Amino acid sequence: MNDQRVLAVMYHYVRDRCGTPEEGIRGLDTASFARQLDLLCAHLEPVGWPRLRAWQQKDASIPEACFLLTFDDGLADHAEVVAPILEARGLTGVFFVSGGSLETGRMHAAHQIHLLQTVLEEDALATAVYDWLARNESAEDWPQAVDREAARRLYHYESSERADLKYLLHCTLPVCSRNRMLDELVEQQVSDPRELARKWYLDGSALFALNAAGHTIGGHGFTHEPQARLSPREQLRDLSRSAAVLRSLLGPGERPLSYPFGSYNADVARHAAEVGFVQAFTTRPGWIRQGDRAFELHRVDTIAVDTFLEQELLCPLP
Ligand SMILES: [Zn+2]
Repeated sequence: MNDQRVLAVMYHYVRDRCGTPEEGIRGLDTASFARQLDLLCAHLEPVGWPRLRAWQQKDASIPEACFLLTFDDGLADHAEVVAPILEARGLTGVFFVSGGSLETGRMHAAHQIHLLQTVLEEDALATAVYDWLARNESAEDWPQAVDREAARRLYHYESSERADLKYLLHCTLPVCSRNRMLDELVEQQVSDPRELARKWYLDGSALFALNAAGHTIGGHGFTHEPQARLSPREQLRDLSRSAAVLRSLLGPGERPLSYPFGSYNADVARHAAEVGFVQAFTTRPGWIRQGDRAFELHRVDTIAVDTFLEQELLCPLP
């Protein structure tokens, strides 16, 4: 029986931040990353994205159980820390980059929030946000506008207060005022957000080098907003800009997309194909099988990989 399948693993931050001002950033340290690579290599075969793509198109076969490494957000971590580790092992990765961090020098809201969390306790961050809203957006009771059930579903790994706050910031407040608020808070509490963005993200030459080293560069939206909160017209514009940035930097070619926050719907998937992406990765856990829909590919977050493998391979891991 043909049981070819791929486990796509999703990573974000990978760096040793212990003892640095960014110690509070939740990410993977290099020893844990190396351990996970050992685990994956012990149970599965590595596959690069071009081969996965050819297999999906029935132009190639793959070993029975494979893994694919994917990295979201275009972080400097990926060139400075991840790529050397992968290259020393003869592995390649897929690096998903938001066009906006390359073109506008803006820090994504998600990352500004991570930085604020490193300097403000949970209550202090909520107070800073609600105070800012009271001063600037007094016409509406924004905290009341949060869909609490959706917040808890999306941020199931957070306390309910933190889930509500993140949902307010990412999915409820108007993007323009939310960005203004975060810029002001980061400037007050951390440092100049533009300066921070320069060291936080990959620049064009780092991306070019990753691509030249045999890794795959994919899109991750332009503004890094959850696509499903945008209107169909805004989705098309955002995805089209995301594809255009990569085309102008790296030339034409087939590229995958990963949906920021795993947020998509039928319109988003259709627009992704229209602007030239050939596949899209979600954050829904599971194996990728050959007949799966190209714009709804599963991925498993790094924190869930051990449990996933234990259940799927029916073997206790060390
Ligand atoms: Zn992202």
